[in-house]
Parts: sequence; C-alpha cells; structure tokens
Amino acid sequence: MAAFAADGERQAGHWPGESLTRLADLQSPPSDGVLADVAWQAQGERRVVPGSEPEIWLALAVNTPVWLTCQRCLQPMAEPLALARRIRFVHGESQAESMDAELEEDVLALSRSLDLRELVEDELLLALPLVPRHGACPQPLNVSADIAALPDEAPSKPNPFSALRALKTGGSE
Ligand SMILES: [Zn+2]
Repeated sequence: MAAFAADGERQAGHWPGESLTRLADLQSPPSDGVLADVAWQAQGERRVVPGSEPEIWLALAVNTPVWLTCQRCLQPMAEPLALARRIRFVHGESQAESMDAELEEDVLALSRSLDLRELVEDELLLALPLVPRHGACPQPLNVSADIAALPDEAPSKPNPFSALRALKTGGSE
C-alpha cells in the first residue's frame, strides 16, 4: 500500500455489488433488480515536505447506484452514490488517531495489507442517506387521496341502519 501510494500509482476497476456484503445486506432491490457494479479509482501520491518525511496520500473516487427503500412510499428506489475522498497515511495507529482528530482529511495507519475494498465499503456505508426518499414517488396520488378522504369521514359516524335506509329509499325512487 505504501509503495502503491508513494509511486503515484493509479488503479481503477469494478467490483460486483454482491461482493460488498455489508452494503449488499442493507439494500432492497426489486424482485427483478440486481445490484450494480461498484466503480472505483485510486490514485496514490507522495508529497515531498522539506525537512520532514514525505506525506503519503490516496485519492479515492467511487461510484455506484444502490437500491434503497423510499421512506415515503416504501417502494424500492435506485439512489446514485458518488464519493471522492482524500486519505492520508501515516505510520502507526496512535499517530493516525491523533492526526485524524486534528485534520479535516481522513487519516489511516499504513499497513501492508490495506484492503481497498473494505475501505471503499466503509466510505459507501457512511455516504448512505439516512432517510432515503424519491424526489417524486411513483404512486403519490393514491396515498394523498386516502389521507385527504379521512377527515371528512371521521367526525360524523353515520348509524349503519340509517345509511341502509337511505340506500333503500334511494333505490326505490
Ligand atoms: Zn417513494
């Protein structure tokens, strides 16, 4: 990982949506829907700092639609997720933690076995909307019609027998 970032390497690829299992578990695609691929790009950077150790950075860009449940109409909705993060790598967990609190950017400890997919999945989970909603629900009319009809019927509860009588009278005319 250090070598990758330090050499300014650039990698890009796609992962099947199912392979990010924690994210997949939170999704609710329609019965005929499938999880889309997660597209990602990673660009390493080694910044020379005079009088100090060079800084190691990783720029991450991720793009994928996810299937969520609209909290208004409870129907599935495809929400595009796109994120760009700059992550700085430092030596040692303790240094990473103290710098993460100070700096605006994410700071992680350098490790030889950084799992890029794990990192991307973490970032996607954080980017999920808390209350997903359609911009315009596909079936908004039925819902609002039901709600609008409620107040008129609720206050006066007609006697079922008088209602029946009214029907009979009406029918005989
Ligand atoms: Zn909706």
